[in-house]
Amino acid sequence: MKNTKRFGILFLAGVFACPFASAVPVGGIDVLGGRNRLVVRIDPSFEPSSQFELKVDRKKYVFDINETQKRNTGNEFTIDNLKEKDHKVTLSFKDNNGKPVKYTREVTVYGDNYEKTLPVRDLKSAIYNKEINELTLNWGNPVSDYAGAVISYTNMRGRKAVLSLPYDRTTIATRVNALEVRSAYCPDACVDTFYSVAKVLKDVPVATPKDIWGGVYVPTVVYEVMDTAKNTEGETIYRKLIKDDPTSFFANVVYRVLNALYETPQDSFPKVYTMRNILGPVIPAKEYNFPASTPAYMGSDGSGNCTMKINVTHIEKFMKDHPGEYQKLEDEIIGIFLHEFTHSYQFRCRANNREEGAFTEGMADAVRFMTGGFTEEDRVRAGLAGEKSDLKWFSRYRITGCFLMWLRNFDGDFVHKFNRTGVDLKNWSFSKAVKSILGEQYEVQDLWDQYIREVKEEALEMGIN
Ligand SMILES: [Zn+2]
Repeated sequence: MKNTKRFGILFLAGVFACPFASAVPVGGIDVLGGRNRLVVRIDPSFEPSSQFELKVDRKKYVFDINETQKRNTGNEFTIDNLKEKDHKVTLSFKDNNGKPVKYTREVTVYGDNYEKTLPVRDLKSAIYNKEINELTLNWGNPVSDYAGAVISYTNMRGRKAVLSLPYDRTTIATRVNALEVRSAYCPDACVDTFYSVAKVLKDVPVATPKDIWGGVYVPTVVYEVMDTAKNTEGETIYRKLIKDDPTSFFANVVYRVLNALYETPQDSFPKVYTMRNILGPVIPAKEYNFPASTPAYMGSDGSGNCTMKINVTHIEKFMKDHPGEYQKLEDEIIGIFLHEFTHSYQFRCRANNREEGAFTEGMADAVRFMTGGFTEEDRVRAGLAGEKSDLKWFSRYRITGCFLMWLRNFDGDFVHKFNRTGVDLKNWSFSKAVKSILGEQYEVQDLWDQYIREVKEEALEMGIN
């Protein structure tokens, strides 16, 4: 019988720790193999002063548990320098009732010879999703004792990093289309991890959002310009941007948004059938009391029919603030679309206002950042603003979005997985979502602190303050 194996993701160390993979323990005691060693694990309920006699082949070892031992090793005894083979082990002890117990077992000790036989798991496919800086490896047929991929790569800051990921699909966030990968193995009833040699992957095939998502249904777009926006400078620039061809313009936005939110077109995601797009000024009294400066908003009837209003007043103000900078204006308008379309395609979560706002608006700006809808400077500034914000990761919009993107350092698929927690978790919370993706040992506050430290370093390097 194989025990369920669970792994933590260690960001810095990047090593797999074999869990308590085990044969059936006897009387709360386990004898496990390892790398040229053998480990006896004793249940914490054993009382101090219990004595144990261990025979490995012909050699005898005696040990007992006293308080110091319990504290220092957690009731664990190791016999080192063992040959790589099956050893006959006999363990004798008295249980808590004073009854003598003796059992014999074969324990496999592993070593270099075993490790040399380990292959790099076959790859089914590899793809570099360049727009969102994600390189994904899909692993082929299952391999016995396989624990996961150990990937050495260059992270988004250009630093060397190592990620250990136990999944059949593993993704890293990188600007470099190359990596080195080893496969990790945890044999049954063994406490140590073994690794294959490293394999270098270079020039992984690059895919655009359209390559991957081009086959999905694109909503029918109804495009309207309100009388109050007609013949304005805002309208002219807007028409120029979409080249009077809203269908292909919007299709591209859809591909880019789905590409950032989901892993593959086979994933389930909300369907959008129609999209009414309105260009006009936002009038607070008529429009949910949104401020007149609101760049845009998106609404849905709940059956896949969405309405998006883009504020011509915002476009004109942006033009005034950035005279002659057409590229900037174009980026801003596309960025608004990326954000608003995310709202139509993202999952919803059930949570209180603070949590829900961080999920919904954080994701929308995370998608905008990932798809290049903001600059690197914007990203660092959002981090610095996060340090000053009492709401921290609940600040929503850019501040939350950049933090979510940064969490891809722990799992390149973090943003996709975070979106999915919206439907997978009942009573959603930010903390629950992070733990469900990265592991119970991860506290959002600790991650946030680490994130802020990094952003401050980056700001210094880039001369931003
Ligand atoms: Zn929004």
